[in-house]
Amino acid sequence: MDIMRELAIENEKKIVLLVMDGLGGLPMKTGGKTELETASTPNMDRLAATSECGLQTPLGIGITPGSAPGHFSLFGYNPFNYQIGRGVVAAMGINFPMKPGDVAVRINFATKDNEGNITDRRAGRIPTEECAKLCDLLKDLRIEGVEVFVKPVKDYRAVAVFRGKGLSDRVTDTDPQATGVKPLKARATSENGEKMAEVANEFVKQANEILKNQHPANTVLMRGFAELPHIPSMKDMYKLKPLALAVYPDYKGVSRLVGMDVIEGLTSLEEQAKALEENWKDYNFFFVHHKYTDSKGEDGNFDGKVKEIEKVDAFLPKILQLEPDVILITGDHSTPSFLKSHSGHPVPFMIHAEGIRPDDVTTFGERSCAKGLWGVIEGKMLMRLALSYAGKLKKYGA
Ligand code: ZN
Repeated sequence: MDIMRELAIENEKKIVLLVMDGLGGLPMKTGGKTELETASTPNMDRLAATSECGLQTPLGIGITPGSAPGHFSLFGYNPFNYQIGRGVVAAMGINFPMKPGDVAVRINFATKDNEGNITDRRAGRIPTEECAKLCDLLKDLRIEGVEVFVKPVKDYRAVAVFRGKGLSDRVTDTDPQATGVKPLKARATSENGEKMAEVANEFVKQANEILKNQHPANTVLMRGFAELPHIPSMKDMYKLKPLALAVYPDYKGVSRLVGMDVIEGLTSLEEQAKALEENWKDYNFFFVHHKYTDSKGEDGNFDGKVKEIEKVDAFLPKILQLEPDVILITGDHSTPSFLKSHSGHPVPFMIHAEGIRPDDVTTFGERSCAKGLWGVIEGKMLMRLALSYAGKLKKYGA
């Protein structure tokens, strides 16, 4: 990291990082093809033929990444140096102006029965408009000595930010991660978490009262209490002017945490392409994120994930026509449909620029990339490669 800060120089060269969330996959049957190998990807294959390819492990071999650390790794940061709580990612995702000392937590609106047992952890996946109304109701919450902000994020997800003296994120979740059981009490994991735990439990008590006649969202679950971490920006680290083009709030959140500018209101690849073109001259690093590869993988929907990869392939020419100096395509982790979850399997990548050493890889896939120039490398090295190929790293030593 520090060596990067020392070597980084500014120039006009433009880098595009295209991330298909949860890109890496597995065959559904031994010997079969992965989602990426099954997908028809003529544009990526053509690019792979003139790129350097390989596999990357976002958090090192065998470690299953969450999306936030997976992205930190792609942005070139050591993801183990920063504790990025869910609450902060959510708050930054909606551009809530968190202050040092604030504690943010992700809220799920949920359904409980008369006994208080959770019957649906996502309240029937209520739409964002419904979520916004419920957040409005929670404005009536009053906790002595603490300012409380409750804001909608997406669907059943919201975020609460607590502002006051003596708060800390040393507090456990109330989400039991299961149905048919009661929510957990927030508990302090160290002495300085005691006040926050009390505040959190009081919040839940009042929220239950306010929401008692609502349906299906009649309670809240809390996950990922988090304070604002101090993270050096990509501008400080690499002298870049970075822009994020993401649809999902959490990815805008991780982008803001490393100091990227974020375009709001994007809802599709088409809009992302348009925004990319409109902002092309004002930035020199572009992070383009596609979420649905991961969502389909999590659903165990192999064909759905294949289709999402094909959609991104069809979108690729819109990036290429802008003639980026460096384009890097990969994922933040694997989400094999076979496992219906994130996994630690290495993720294929390709990097294309002038002045590189093309390998023999002519299709973009797990097996083909394994034979690429780079073999298996750590995810955080990709940023180094991208900067280097964009001429943004000066020589080390005399
Ligand atoms: Zn992810």
